[in-house]
Amino acid sequence: MNKPLPKTGVMDIAAYVPGRSTAPAGVKLVKLSSNETPLGPAESAKAAFVHTAQKLEDYPDGQATELRQAIGLKHGLNPDNIVCGAGSDELLSLLANCYLSPGDEAIYSQHGFLVYKIAILANGAVPVVAPEVDHTASVDAILECVTSKTRIVFLANPNNPTGTYIPIDEVRRLHAELPKHVVLVLDAAYAEYVRRNDYEAGIELVSSSSNVVMTRTFSKIYGLAALRIGWCYGPANIIDALNRIRGPFNVSAAAIAAGTAAIEDHSHLENAIRHNDAWLAWTSKALNDLGLTVTPSVANFVLVHFPETKGKTAQEADEYLVQRGFVLRAVGAYGLPNALRMTIGNEEANRGVVAALSEFLDQS
Ligand SMILES: *Cc1c(COP(=O)(O)O)cnc(C)c1O
Repeated sequence: MNKPLPKTGVMDIAAYVPGRSTAPAGVKLVKLSSNETPLGPAESAKAAFVHTAQKLEDYPDGQATELRQAIGLKHGLNPDNIVCGAGSDELLSLLANCYLSPGDEAIYSQHGFLVYKIAILANGAVPVVAPEVDHTASVDAILECVTSKTRIVFLANPNNPTGTYIPIDEVRRLHAELPKHVVLVLDAAYAEYVRRNDYEAGIELVSSSSNVVMTRTFSKIYGLAALRIGWCYGPANIIDALNRIRGPFNVSAAAIAAGTAAIEDHSHLENAIRHNDAWLAWTSKALNDLGLTVTPSVANFVLVHFPETKGKTAQEADEYLVQRGFVLRAVGAYGLPNALRMTIGNEEANRGVVAALSEFLDQS
């Protein structure tokens, strides 16, 4: 060996490719590729962020106490059972680092969020993919994948990029059937958007077990993706493990301040939910009316399926939209080569995409 070699698994990783964020020169960019909110963060969060510029020389509070307390208050949780991270991506990686050794297996569903696969491979563990039914996670399929080597099940609920969810009863059934030493990670990045009576992010399940952890983020509905703030709620045994391996100052002072202000602004959150309710329904129907199949979504994005006919494919639609400044997300890496994922934007963006796709489908 004449050069350092990364440990097993690392070179099997296909680096995560973020949503495109450029438009052709001279065309106004409308970014609908990473599920960011069109409303931006609360004004109070911006002000809190700016205020932290007064004291950049000091390390932040390594426990992110203020932020954990604000989250605890909002959701009725004991702050001792919360860990904050640099985005929930960091927490997903830390969970894998804590619980996966080389040769172990971790399960996620067919079109599940790709960060899971990266976190699994980075620990020399084996990604096991459970088939979905109608682009929706299947508890039976996940349970069929469980072996004596399984250590983690990652479930995005709702899932990205499909926008589908499974009811809390199904999540409970999954948990009940899993061996007690398997960690069930409930990634609820889009929980705030869901308007279904049979949905719950999983707080009660976490509270009543020692192997379930829920992850959440400030990157989506709170509009703070740039600051990288996520959190998880878990039983004492999992929280203790995470706190031992995380960076001692993994959340910046700006993130702590802005996140705290954001979660205390209930009216901004309500506005964001109302905006999404209205435009998710409008966009889904408008795309359906164009003859496109849209997977029913409960999140702030839709998965749009295109025909395989030459001239009408997802790839050609993507190019057509990009030329007009509308940047959606190609999801071939998720095993969905004939689909695009569109984040719900502001009124102008949503109407613009639908109008452009109407022209695209009409041209011969
Ligand atoms: C966006 C997203 C996240 C959040 O990532 P952050 O690191 O918190 O920005 C987590 N899980 C899923 C499924 C997502 O789509």
